[in-house]
Formats: sequence, C-alpha cells, structure tokens
Amino acid sequence: MSQQLTERGHGHYIGGEWTDGNGAERGPASDRTEPDDGRTFESENPATGEPLATFQRGMAADVDAALEAAESAAEEWRSLSYIDRAEYLWEIYHELRDRHEELGEIVSKECGKELSEGKADVTEAWHMVEWAAGNARHPHGDVVPSEIGSKDAYMRRKPRGVVGCITPWNFPVAIPFWHMAIALVEGNTVVWKPAEQTPWCGQIIAEMFEDAGIPDGVFNMVQGFGDAGAAITDDERVDTVLFTGSAEVGHEIGNKVGGEPGKLAACEMGGKNGIVITEEADLDIAVHAAIMSSFKTTGQRCVSSERLIVHENVYDEFKERFVDIAEDISVGDPLAEDTFMGPAIEADHVEKIRRHNDLAREEGATVLVDRFELEESEIPDGHEGGAATAADGERSASYANGHWVGPFVYEIEYESDLRCLNEECFGPHVALIEYSGDIEDAVEIHNDTPYGLAGAIISEDYRQLNYFRDRAEIGLAYANLPCIGAEVQLPFGGVKKSGNGYPSAREAIEAVTERTAWTMNNS
Ligand code: NAD
Repeated sequence: MSQQLTERGHGHYIGGEWTDGNGAERGPASDRTEPDDGRTFESENPATGEPLATFQRGMAADVDAALEAAESAAEEWRSLSYIDRAEYLWEIYHELRDRHEELGEIVSKECGKELSEGKADVTEAWHMVEWAAGNARHPHGDVVPSEIGSKDAYMRRKPRGVVGCITPWNFPVAIPFWHMAIALVEGNTVVWKPAEQTPWCGQIIAEMFEDAGIPDGVFNMVQGFGDAGAAITDDERVDTVLFTGSAEVGHEIGNKVGGEPGKLAACEMGGKNGIVITEEADLDIAVHAAIMSSFKTTGQRCVSSERLIVHENVYDEFKERFVDIAEDISVGDPLAEDTFMGPAIEADHVEKIRRHNDLAREEGATVLVDRFELEESEIPDGHEGGAATAADGERSASYANGHWVGPFVYEIEYESDLRCLNEECFGPHVALIEYSGDIEDAVEIHNDTPYGLAGAIISEDYRQLNYFRDRAEIGLAYANLPCIGAEVQLPFGGVKKSGNGYPSAREAIEAVTERTAWTMNNS
C-alpha cells in the first residue's frame, strides 16, 4: 500500500521549496491528490513487490528550474568561508548519526539490503560528510618556491560552479554524500537526481539539507529517471557532472560531456571484479573473502566479485568449501536478523541476472550451485522473528512477490573472450576459474576484462601480494580481505571501463575545483 511518508510531500526540492514540478508549490500532504498524468512514479519494497510511496517524476522543466536556482545561489555560496559552508554539513553529520537505526531500516526497505548493510550505508555517509566538512580546515593549495626571490607563488583552488550529481540505487545514502559533501564544501552549488529505485532515500536527504538551513538554491534535488539525469548532464549551466552508475550510462555521459569545452564529467562505473587465490593462500581467509565479495548485498555492489581465480593445487578444496556455504546462505527478509542476502532490486534486474546465468550455461559452464529460483520454503512469509520491526508494522506483508534470487556458482575453463567472464552481471553470480603456474599467470587472467574497478589477492607470500598490487589493472586492490568496502580517506574508483576520474571520496576534489597558479610580485 502506497503511503504518505512525510508532510513535506514527495516532490522535488528546488530553490528552497518543495514542488510538484512546473513551478507548482506543494501544500500540506493532506490537501493534495496525486496527479495521474505520467508525472509520478512509485518506490517499491523489493522484498514484497509492494509500492512504498508515490513520487513526482522530474522533467526537463524541473531540471531547468533547479539549475536556475543553483546558478542564482552560486555567487553568495562561494563567497562564504570553507568553514562556514562546512557548518551545514556538520548539522547533517549529526542527524545521520542520531537517526542511524531509522535510516538504516529505510535503506533496507527501499533497496532490499539486509539491515546491517542498510545501517552501514548510513555510516559510510557520515564518514564522508565528516571527511568533507573536516577537510574545510585543511590546506587547499600549495605554496611553492618561485624562480625569483621577490615572488610569491602558489596554487589556489576555486569552485567550478554548478555540479550535477547522478547516483545509483545500491548505496542510496552513502554515494550521494560522496558526491555532494565535497562539492558543497568546496563552494559549488548542486543539482542532484537520486536513482528512480530509491526516491524515499532521496526525499530524506533533501529534508536533511532543508533542516540544516542550507541557503536556498545551494542544494537542489529533482526526482526522476534517466531523462531527468540527461537533462542535467546536457545543460550548459552544469560545470561538472559527478556520475556513479553503470558503464553504459557513464560512457554515454562521459562522451557527451567530455566533448564540451570547459565542462567535466567524472564517472564511476561497474566492474567484473576478480579474487586471485594462490597456492599460498590461507583457505579460511579465501573462502570468507569470496563468500562476502560474491554474495553480500546480493552481489549488487560495484565491487562485488564475479570471478574467483584459484590455483590448481588448492582448487578442489576451495571449491568444496565455497560451494558448501553458497548452498546454505540465507536469503530472506532484509529486516530479519538471520538474513545474509536480501532480494534483488527489481523485477527487471531479476531478469538481467537470469540472462547472465543462462549465458554462462550457453558458454559451457558447469553449474555448481543454482539457487536462482528459490524453493518456496526459502521465501519468507512475513515471519515474526528477528529484527523485522519495520516502523509501519509491515511484518505481516506477503513476500511472495519479492524479487528473490539465490546464489549461482559455476566453474568454467578460462578463455579470453567468454562474455560471461567479461560482462558485469551485478548479482549473486560467480565463476570459478582454475589456473596453473605462478602469480604472473593468475594476474594475466585477472586483468583480462574490459573493467578495472576492484580485486583481491589471498596469499601469504609477500612477493605475490606486491606483484598483484603493482600489476593488477584496478583502482581498488585488497590483500587477504574481501574486495568490498571503502575508505573515504582513500581514492575510490577504477581504471579502464570502470572509471574516468573520481566523483567519489577524496579525489573528487579534483573534479569540483579549478586550480589557479598565482604568482605575485612582492618587490
Ligand atoms: P544506472 O547507470 O542505470 O543508473 C544510475 C543513475 O543514472 C540513475 O540515477 C539513473 O536514473 C541515471 N541515468 C540513467 N540513464 C541516464 C542518462 N542517459 N543520462 C543521465 N542519467 C541517467 O545504474 P544503476 O542500475 O542505478 O546502478 C548499478 C550500476 O552502478 C552497476 O553497474 C554498478 O557497478 C554501478 N555502481 C558503481 C559504483 C562505483 O563506485 N564504481 C558504485 C555503485 C554502483
């Protein structure tokens, strides 16, 4: 049953006002009826398939209004000190912390992550806000020695202007803050489009900015789909586009925006991530890392592992242990305590995962675990146990229409051009590949995909670890760990098809600022 989530309505937040679009101001929710003209869309609970709430669908006119507001607010905002700008972010930091449990549950309900991951999404958001706001007190340029004694020479940063942020659904609270916290502290104004699958999280974040008292027009949010996103990226008033999402969309944006003088797009995209497990691996660590990386978040992380590259001397033992656990992983209600994997995000995504599983079969895979279609007994039925304490008493919901998928594990002989080893599935779908030889051979297989986001090595041999660190063609390399998890103090991003610049974490500063080389004659 679609609900009214807040008195502020489910519209766009533009120039400090809530609006249904086309400039119409929203009254209190109780005074309104939803228009039925294709301008609305529904957020859905992926565990039940039931609608959560109806949201306004942003059109080009709404993006236009948001960009106008962002442009008008730009001059005053950039004139504030870094520290004053950061004050608004500190307000949000405290709110994220104070509402941790509640927001974690909302993330779980709207994007299907199990509860500890829902809460981790919120934690990561405040880590990012803390980093960006704290960074306001750090140096923002370099003083350098000049060729001439009487000259001052230094590099200074200034904001680029209006930043358009476009984000995916799988980290619906953390990723928006990865983009926006830095863009705002650095003095830019922002127009943000949340993912269409997670507008409730978008609504809550916009409310936080409003409650923090951020000046009108500095932060703007337009709900909607890819057409609203394209209206942002295509507009000449946008100086920087920060995008996180699929390679298909990211490359389209990168190509379009990259061709425009003075405009910049930093795109963070998918991966076909691999874990190398060498003969010298501790298999307890290897099995744990592979399970976490392949199935956490139902495999729907950009850094999830879809390839396990295992040395022939440990292959059989690793396979047996990995398969045993994959057979038993609990899939279920994201809010229940014993759930490891929640549902996939939406019906279309279930079909996409099905196609990838079929493709592996067609390309000669031997299937080791196929829980794609879960047994009826595995699908939760509104059970009363665990932490299923959704605020609105959704305990009795029927889960029969949820977007359930289970682990799919296969082994396949490595061949360079197999599509199943090159295309991102973004689900609980993972290949075991046996290799022989040394670390050089493993890394050659590891690097043989068009993507270059994340990967891990499991080994107790330091030469192998160092070789992987230096030769693996990825931005995020993990040793004796799952290949998931982000440190906001480090760059987060990839190479090859996975990234062209850094919209997230520390390095995003480069995308949202311009550098001025300043030399001044003091004589
Ligand atoms: P997506 O590319 O379908 O959508 C991402 C965002 O782009 C959404 O807000 C969407 O509405 C918008 N969009 C769609 N078409 C657009 C267009 N033509 N112009 C402008 N905006 C447009 O991705 P998704 O399904 O939301 O997310 C899953 C993908 O994101 C996976 O490939 C995953 O690997 C990737 N991802 C990458 C990272 C990373 O940091 N590298 C993090 C999370 C997710």
